Amino acid sequence: DPRIHGIQTKIRVVPDFPKQGIMFQDITTLLLDPKAFKDTIDLFVERYKGKNISVVAGIEARGFIFGPPIALAIGAKFVPLRKPKKLPGKVISEEYILEYGRDCLEMHVGAVETGDHVLVVDDLIATGGTLCAAMNLLERVGAQVVECACVIELPDLKGRERLNDKPLYVLVESH
Ligand code: IMP
Repeated sequence: DPRIHGIQTKIRVVPDFPKQGIMFQDITTLLLDPKAFKDTIDLFVERYKGKNISVVAGIEARGFIFGPPIALAIGAKFVPLRKPKKLPGKVISEEYILEYGRDCLEMHVGAVETGDHVLVVDDLIATGGTLCAAMNLLERVGAQVVECACVIELPDLKGRERLNDKPLYVLVESH
């Protein structure tokens, strides 16, 4: 699809952020280009429209940028998966291991129900730990994760292998 190249060129790569040796993929420059941002959303919407997805679950923070416009366009609910202690209601939590230390995702109890068909959205998959935790959380409440969707994949980190055969759809690969 010719739109993919346009999207790729708008993602800025920042060396040594947030620490030495990391090539940070910065999507804020993509958001500055209305055509490339719209193409990004359109590509996801074209893939998921009419696929019976009842919930789009977005991962804090950049899943909150791409998830809601997809949810609106396909007529699904949007559910935020948040970092600890941000949600005011009763939550279900899933801890996961990071390179240094651990992190956690939380979701409001009742936001997603048994039988929901969920699309999980984030900006980027690296090791796959974050998407894995998101899927565990959703499956614990009886939902069915249909697919994970990210703008960017870092395939060298083999995050895809951690998703236990759950389909992953990405627009751009970065090496
Ligand atoms: P993973 O859990 O190792 O797959 O890391 C993915 C999570 O870290 C996502 O929530 C991303 O937003 C974030 N992340 C990791 N590397 C980058 C990057 O280079 N740019 C933007 N986000 C990143």
